[in-house]
Amino acid sequence: MSLAEVAGVQVDTRHWIGGQRVSSPETFATVSPIDGTELAQVARGGKTEADAAVAAARAAFPAWAALSPQERGAILHRVADNVESHIEELSQLETADNGSLLRSHRRGVMPRVVTNLRFFADYAINELHHPVFETRGHDNHVSWDPSGVAVIITPWNAPLMLATWRIGPALASGDTVVAKPPEWAPLTASLFAQLAHEAGLPAGVFNVVQGFGTEAGAALTANPGISRICFTGSVPTAKVIAHAAADNLIPCSFELGGKSPTVILDDADLDLAVDLAVEQYDNAGQVCLAGTRLLVQEGIADEFTARFAERAAQIRQGDPRDEETQIGPNIHLKHVERVEGFIDRARADGATVAYGGERNTDLGPHYFRPTLIVDAPAGSEILTQEVFGPVLTMQTFASDDEGLALANGTEFGLAACVVTGSRERAEAFTKHLVAGTIWVNCFFVRDLAAPFGGSKRSGIGREGGLWSFDFYADVKNTVYAPNGWTKE
Ligand code: NAD
Repeated sequence: MSLAEVAGVQVDTRHWIGGQRVSSPETFATVSPIDGTELAQVARGGKTEADAAVAAARAAFPAWAALSPQERGAILHRVADNVESHIEELSQLETADNGSLLRSHRRGVMPRVVTNLRFFADYAINELHHPVFETRGHDNHVSWDPSGVAVIITPWNAPLMLATWRIGPALASGDTVVAKPPEWAPLTASLFAQLAHEAGLPAGVFNVVQGFGTEAGAALTANPGISRICFTGSVPTAKVIAHAAADNLIPCSFELGGKSPTVILDDADLDLAVDLAVEQYDNAGQVCLAGTRLLVQEGIADEFTARFAERAAQIRQGDPRDEETQIGPNIHLKHVERVEGFIDRARADGATVAYGGERNTDLGPHYFRPTLIVDAPAGSEILTQEVFGPVLTMQTFASDDEGLALANGTEFGLAACVVTGSRERAEAFTKHLVAGTIWVNCFFVRDLAAPFGGSKRSGIGREGGLWSFDFYADVKNTVYAPNGWTKE
């Protein structure tokens, strides 16, 4: 009952609390988007399990916080080693559970999980120092103290990668962690807990409570014993969590949705522009950073559109375990229905579906065809709200200023991609773009030392490098006077 075999991998479907497996009276099904089969029944946590996990994390906190960054780093590197030697199992499990490409998991996503652990472990050891500075003869010493228990709540589009992007720095800071994985793809969190335990992470330092957001998630964020809430997910959920956090004044780090622009100026290298535009369909559009609004300058719009449509028609949709597949299914039938709703309303608003706009029924009900929407009326839903499926829109603009206004014209500000042949134009354009991350003539180049997060409704705060530690730790300044030393 508690052990399931999924894609040839054994996974325990109970919670992981205080170094032990814990059951719940109820379970929920996790279903594979590849073919709709039920993969496992997973323990469904609520307040009891959430409170037990926070208590376990609090009990483990003093000893974990008392370790030096070197000692914690040595353990985190051992966890990373164990994850690294199980990349194949983690990849198979994640692909079965969330339908993302197996080859991406093997070559990109799971290696990044390893890096999420190693990078922040090393950062705490080597980089987390501030020079002592002087104020009227007094010395200021800045330190980053562990803050307590970080609750980490994450979505299904890259479950383990997004979770460890937070777990890595939280543990390296000396905090202990309770993670709540997404209910549509919970399995890799459980395997990760086991791998971390085998590698010597002490009991209670990392805990997993599975279940629904409104049950397990809500109970965790309402617990007064926590010190940080890290949430990756949608704007409506963030608002609910912000209310819960307000009751206990818990600091939050929110990485939320986007409606990012891919801006193609008329001096762009068109081959590059087409490549970058097609990339926005990756992971069947289930990428928070995707530049789903193609904004193309008028002089090149016809040629770009023709070349882009030709390339998009060649995208191979299929089983995500197949090496040749470029985009797979969407996560859940409810999510596919949500995407269809956007298309129906776009049509009703007067927009045109240039291609796609429907399920690829040859493959199954979870597979939505790559879609392009054109001629949508300004301000309409499809141009302003996040679809989170393989749906791009295209708009044209005349001047750079007009392009900039379009690019900034939503309530989101997560990312932007700008394609231009001129460095000068790029600098002028990006100076006024409102986004946490901007890529010029590239996409998805990520350095974990760089600040990451969203502007406007796309998030609160930044993580990455020092920004992560500034969030998870209690940053402290100790001022030493020059006088008063009686024991020299
Ligand atoms: P979601 O907000 O529905 O759920 C995210 C997580 O929150 C899940 O684990 C869910 O169980 C939990 N949750 C739901 N209600 C809760 C509550 N009341 N209290 C506590 N937890 C609760 O989002 P989703 O549909 O799973 O994910 C898609 C969204 O995530 C998109 O908007 C996407 O852009 C965003 N996202 C953002 C980033 C980023 O880095 N900015 C990365 C990936 C995804």
